[in-house]
Amino acid sequence: AAEEGFDPEEVAGDLAAAGHGPLPVLAVVGRPNVGKSTLVNRIIGRREAVVEDRPGVTRDRVTYEATWNGRRFKLVDTGGWEQDVLGIDASVAAQAEYAIEAADAVVFVVDSTVGATDTDEAVVRLLRKAGKPVVLAANKVDGPSGEADATALWNLGLGEPYPVSSLHGRGTGDLLDAILEALPEAPAQTFGEAVGGPRRVALIGRPNVGKSSLLNKVAGSERVVVNEIAGTTRDPVDELIELGGITWKFIDTAGIRRRVHLQEGADYYASLRTAAALEKAEVAVILIDGSETISVQDLRIITMAVEAGRAVVIAYNKWDQLDEERRYYLEREIEQDLVQVQWAPRVNVSALTGRHMEKLVPAIEAALAGWETRVPTGRLNAFLGEIVAAHPHPVRGGKQPRILFGTQAGTRPPRFVLFASGFLEAGYRRFIERRLREEFGFAGTPIQVSVRVRE
Ligand code: GDP
Ligand code: GDP
Repeated sequence: AAEEGFDPEEVAGDLAAAGHGPLPVLAVVGRPNVGKSTLVNRIIGRREAVVEDRPGVTRDRVTYEATWNGRRFKLVDTGGWEQDVLGIDASVAAQAEYAIEAADAVVFVVDSTVGATDTDEAVVRLLRKAGKPVVLAANKVDGPSGEADATALWNLGLGEPYPVSSLHGRGTGDLLDAILEALPEAPAQTFGEAVGGPRRVALIGRPNVGKSSLLNKVAGSERVVVNEIAGTTRDPVDELIELGGITWKFIDTAGIRRRVHLQEGADYYASLRTAAALEKAEVAVILIDGSETISVQDLRIITMAVEAGRAVVIAYNKWDQLDEERRYYLEREIEQDLVQVQWAPRVNVSALTGRHMEKLVPAIEAALAGWETRVPTGRLNAFLGEIVAAHPHPVRGGKQPRILFGTQAGTRPPRFVLFASGFLEAGYRRFIERRLREEFGFAGTPIQVSVRVRE
């Protein structure tokens, strides 16, 4: 009776249409100070991205979720690129390279009060060669008198310049309409390769945890280099590596191998690459240096993987360097700081000695299996019925909200929607999530549970 009025297939279809699947990625590219971060803030409608007059500010977050006219997409702000270290031309070119690799469409921002510079024209050449859809934003058109400056940007050969004032919001609606037209419904990379083909692994972790050592160890000499985006980048991006008798695609190994010796900008550069690799991957192997205290940066990388909705394996590396005391403290740190990923399969490895390399593949396979698990609606509701009967929601204000029905709206990662007769408290939602994990496993995968209140 609880199911009355709900067609699970229909609900699942609606949710997929509403964009609960992987989202298309939009990169915002342009020279420093043209207003990229201001535009990002405007689009996400929040004050999250840091805007500073000082160029080259290091920012933690690089991807945001945005919605326009009911369509969701991911937005990447490349504004924090460290141009002091890279030099302006190199940093802007690197943004473009990133956009070419990882984004489905690009917004190229030009300061119309300055006009097109040589750097802008160099970026245009890179973007054109890549063939990704580009929308040209002529920024800082704060009033009608600026329109002429915007018109001059037709010269860039990118089609119609959209005059906008990111600061005041002028023209941003039209720009967003053009952006939505340029963005594919779903990211081609993820969907195109979803069925068949080698599984995609991102090996991530902060600098010096041992990523390239691990890659060399597991790859040995069996490595096949694939240049995915032929003709657009000089570096091989991904590699096919055989492990445990299976061929895997390791994402962005070029980024791992390329030893970037940047000081201040290194963190930001690394986060961008991590975000890009996660975008393309199905499973993240997160490397942590077990010989050192778990750092905020380690936690941030874990959060990025979880928020990206990827399957996760955690590998504690440099195990050869851990004495008994360090092992003790490491376990305490894991208990304290890594509660959010208690579900992730764990391996203790040494890229130096090769310790436990053979455990990597089973861990990755377990995580992927959890990530793809689908719980039949009947079984889910039988289970929900049991826990609701045994552990009802506490009575609040004389009312007792009840879970009426649940459905799994998607996989990769598993997403559940619960329909309830009233608001479910956060504590109760966590309890349900915990019980779902206990019942159905979900090793190695984040799960999302959302609640819809049915009036
Ligand atoms: P980014 O380096 O490209 O991310 O540029 P920011 O977003 O940090 O902006 C650089 C400066 O330009 C800041 O002082 C902004 O307030 C200013 N700015 C950004 N957009 C506009 C705009 O549409 N009009 C005007 N007048 N100033 C803007
Ligand atoms: P990446 O920046 O994450 O790619 O890290 P690297 O692979 O370049 O490794 C950083 C340093 O840690 C190098 O000096 C490696 O030799 C060392 N290293 C990597 N893995 C291990 C390990 O398992 N044990 C020990 N003792 N050192 C390691």
